[in-house]
Amino acid sequence: MPDQKRDYYEVLGVGKTASDDELKKAYRKLAKQYHPDMNPGDKEAEAKFKEINEAYEVLSDKDKRAKYDQFGHAGVDPNFGAGGFGGYGDFGDLGDFGFGDILGDILGGFGGRSAQRSGPQRGESLRTSITISFEEAAFGCEKEITLNRMESCDNCHGTGCAPGTTAEVCPDCHGSGTVRVQQRMGGMAFTSSAPCTRCRGTGKIIHQPCKTCGGAGNVRKHRKLSVSIPQGINDKQAISLRGQGNAGTNNGPNGDLIVEVRVKPHPYFQREGTSVLYECPVSFYQAALGTELEIPTIDGKVKYTLPAGTQPGTTFRLRGKGIPELRGRGRGDQYVTVQVQVPTSLNSQQREALQAFAEAMGEAPASGSSPVKDFFEKKRKKK
Ligand SMILES: [Zn+2]
Ligand SMILES: [Zn+2]
Repeated sequence: MPDQKRDYYEVLGVGKTASDDELKKAYRKLAKQYHPDMNPGDKEAEAKFKEINEAYEVLSDKDKRAKYDQFGHAGVDPNFGAGGFGGYGDFGDLGDFGFGDILGDILGGFGGRSAQRSGPQRGESLRTSITISFEEAAFGCEKEITLNRMESCDNCHGTGCAPGTTAEVCPDCHGSGTVRVQQRMGGMAFTSSAPCTRCRGTGKIIHQPCKTCGGAGNVRKHRKLSVSIPQGINDKQAISLRGQGNAGTNNGPNGDLIVEVRVKPHPYFQREGTSVLYECPVSFYQAALGTELEIPTIDGKVKYTLPAGTQPGTTFRLRGKGIPELRGRGRGDQYVTVQVQVPTSLNSQQREALQAFAEAMGEAPASGSSPVKDFFEKKRKKK
C-alpha cells in the first residue's frame, strides 16, 4: 500500500538530478523489459510495469517532480489529504483580494484610473496536466482529472451574504467601488480615483457574511472532471476547457481550464507526426530466405511477407497503420525498418551448416580465418 512505495528515482534507476532525456531513456528501457506484451500472464512484471509508469508520470512532470522532491509521495498522490497542497479553502479568496488591493492602490495613485472592482470580474484560468499512453494519444480517450478551483458559493449563490440578508450599497462610493481623491502638489490640486477603502472596492457592504464563504461569494472546491482527449493529440499539446477555471466574481464569467497533455514514450514505437516508426528484428536467414512476419501495430499484429534477399536497414510501409490526424479523417502510416540480427554464438551443428553454406557460395574460408583477413593477405602477396 502507499506507505510501502519505493522511491520513484530508485524505481527508474536514475539519480535525483537526472535530466528529462535520462528519465525518458530509463523509462523506455524498463517499460520494454516489463511490458505486459513481453511478459504475458506475469503478475510481478505487471506490477513492476505499473510502478515504472507511475514513477515516470511524476518525475517527467516538472511541477509534480518539484512537489515529489519536496514532500515525497504525499506531495503527488491525488488521494493524499484531498488536495492538501492546493490550499483547499485555506488561502484563496482573501489572499488574492489583498494583492488586488495593492495593485489597485498603485494604479489609482499614479494613473488616476479607477480599478473597476465593483463590476463583473472574470475568474482566473487554471492549468493542469495529464499523462496518457501512446495508444490513448493515437485513438483519443476519456480521462478523469482532479483539481481545486474557486466555485460560486452554493449557500449564498455568490452574493456573499448570509441567506435572507442582502448587501448594502456602500455609502462612500455609492456602489462604484472607487472614490475620488484630492491631492495637492506645490499648490496645485489633482483629482484622481482610488479604490474605496470602506468596501474594499466591491461597492457593497455585507453586514452578515455568508458562513460558508466568509462573504467572498466563492469557495474553493475539490472537483473531478471528465476530459475528452481527441485522437491524434501529441505530447505537449493542450486542450482548453472553456468556463472550467475559477468562478468569476460579481457575476463575471468563469476562467478556462487548460489541460496540457503529456504522452508517455512507447517501449518500441516512436512517433513522428502521424507516422509510427518501428524497428523489426529479423534473423539473417529470414532476411536471406524471406519469411512471413507478424508486425505489432497500434491496431494489433498484422502479417507482412518479407521478400527473400531483404537488406539490413530496409524500410517498408504499412499504409494507414499510423496515428489518426488530430483534426481530420486521415491516418498516417507505420514505417518498419528491418534490423538484421547476427547470432553471437553458434553450436557445432550450426557452424557446420554455415560453413557448408559459405562453401556453396564459393568463398569458403579456411577454418579460423576470416574472408577479410584472406582478402588482405591476397593483396599483400600481389605486391
Ligand atoms: Zn465603497
Ligand atoms: Zn457564500
